[in-house]
Amino acid sequence: MSSGAHGDDGHALKLETRAVHAGRAVDTATGAVTPPLHLSTTFERDADGRWSRGYDYARSSNPTRRLLETALADLEGGSSCAAFASGSAATLAVLQSVGAGCHIVVTEDCYYGTLQQLRDLLPALGIEATMTDTTNPDAVRSALRDNTRLIWVETPSNPLLRITDISAMADIARARGCKLACDNTFATPVFQHPLELGADYCIHSTTKYISGHSDVVGGAVIGACEEDQFEAVRRWQVKGGAVPSPFDCWLLLRSLNTLPLRVRQQSANALQIARFLGQQPGVEAVHYPGLPGHPGHALASRQMQLDGQPGFGSVVSFEVPGGAAQALATAARTRLFIRATSLGGVESLIEHRASSEGPGSRAPDGLLRLAVGIENPIDLIADLQQALDR
Ligand code: PLP
Repeated sequence: MSSGAHGDDGHALKLETRAVHAGRAVDTATGAVTPPLHLSTTFERDADGRWSRGYDYARSSNPTRRLLETALADLEGGSSCAAFASGSAATLAVLQSVGAGCHIVVTEDCYYGTLQQLRDLLPALGIEATMTDTTNPDAVRSALRDNTRLIWVETPSNPLLRITDISAMADIARARGCKLACDNTFATPVFQHPLELGADYCIHSTTKYISGHSDVVGGAVIGACEEDQFEAVRRWQVKGGAVPSPFDCWLLLRSLNTLPLRVRQQSANALQIARFLGQQPGVEAVHYPGLPGHPGHALASRQMQLDGQPGFGSVVSFEVPGGAAQALATAARTRLFIRATSLGGVESLIEHRASSEGPGSRAPDGLLRLAVGIENPIDLIADLQQALDR
């Protein structure tokens, strides 16, 4: 997969530049600066029966999807990428790639949809999983079995924003001959590069920051390996058929251009909001790795950086006294924060996570999760202040 990671003089291009240029070129047929949207489902064969132009049928590949995959691989420093119709489809492709009779070790407080796949879908395929505290390497070592083929980490985790040491997990995985996958949705390629830290797969729900506008559902798996070793994932994309539409790929490509700008602003806003919440008497706990009191702060400061400056993402969770009733009442009073699930969009959201996840949720009853957008933080803080004050 071609990379736009270096300029003509060989110097490494910065992330903001790659987010605009990776995978893109002026269209040779028309001179169009913006990548064309290819809707064709099928592609002409050569007279001798080949498809020498690289495309046969749009489920297998499509020029717009390939541009997106090239750009995502570039931003994550990967060699292969498969775009999916959702983050869940991308997750499932990696989880089931281990095969029947195998075992997976997973971050215990990862996205609840991932836990549901492990509980409700994978046992029928003969795949077992152990949820454990991946912030503790010893707990991960103890959870390994002879048939463990994959360690799956999510860092920061959801909704407690706990931080797992990706390099330490890569060492454990390598020593046991299993693969490491990291859900990088919360951190984004702006702040965290799991493949550079030794992971084999990096997974995104592109629905979140990569879309950034709450108008696309999508996912992606980026592999450290070349295409010939990526078959275990690729076949779930091409044969399983959970592929994104060309238009969604085109929207995601457009969104990638502003990803660093958005994520930097969202993260700066989130840090201000977390500091504000930490000073409120009506707030019992704030979970944000950018706060010095967070147990993963030192690790996050090293592991999550852009150009040497730490960045912690824009999800902030906090707990109010009075359990679910009080938390829901607080969320009902916000005017700018919209009561909705998801994250990564330009607009700020507030969510009572336990009732959103439903029975079996690990989220504390009084916890509210904020997905901070790009609005002015003064307005966002004023909104939270009035919601907490009443
Ligand atoms: N991974 C994380 C961390 C998520 O937050 C989500 C969705 O919220 C997913 C994966 C699943 O993504 P999707 O909703 O695009 O299927």
